[in-house]
Amino acid sequence: MHSVIRRILDFILPTSCSYCNSSIAGSGIPYFCSSCWSDFTPIRGPVCPRCGRPFESPEALSHSPEHACSACRLNPPLFDQALSIGYFEGSLREAIHQFKYRPCRSLGRPLGHWMVENIRVVSGIDIVMPVPLHVRRLKQRGFNQALLLAHRTSEALSIPLSCDNLFRVRPTRPQVELTGEERIKNVSGAFALRQPGALADKNVVLIDDVFTTGATMNECALVLKRAGAARVTALTLARAV
Ligand SMILES: [Zn+2]
Ligand SMILES: [Zn+2]
Repeated sequence: MHSVIRRILDFILPTSCSYCNSSIAGSGIPYFCSSCWSDFTPIRGPVCPRCGRPFESPEALSHSPEHACSACRLNPPLFDQALSIGYFEGSLREAIHQFKYRPCRSLGRPLGHWMVENIRVVSGIDIVMPVPLHVRRLKQRGFNQALLLAHRTSEALSIPLSCDNLFRVRPTRPQVELTGEERIKNVSGAFALRQPGALADKNVVLIDDVFTTGATMNECALVLKRAGAARVTALTLARAV
């Protein structure tokens, strides 16, 4: 009985780190100890200038900085550039899981803070926009995790946030359950704009939590480009590799 109560209490008000189980006292971060929080790995090596895929060789871009990966050369994405801040692994992966699926809204601020602290080159942006949730999913989770990250980015970079122009016209299955091909079909035609005119010639940063195959970002970019957006950058907290 005692251990049941303890487990319930730990769920409501956890005192141990979600990743390593040590005490979170003094970390200032909900559900994580400071050691695991400082262990997030930012992507620092050369990446594909188009899709952000990390290259194995540290010399990959030394001769031709514009050299895209083979996937992008075969099938260029509709966004102009994708940038991810960290690798979707270890304690960062656990933090994103807690943030999205617990769901734990209070992780939005520290995760957003870590994201903007580590943003490298993003310039000339007119609008910051989150990848929207369908209203049904929004009701289940209570918040859009991408909006919390976009809000923090907009504040930190002093760029206007557009949070209700892009929307989901129909519910989609969670991409995490699907294969690459299924992901493309799942999000096909799922997004639209309420005021397409607001996008003409704009340089947009689209924000989401995780970049996996890029299917969602690609579909959003299609809608933004059709409305005349000049440039679309897909910025995510983490990249699955
Ligand atoms: Zn820990
Ligand atoms: Zn690429």
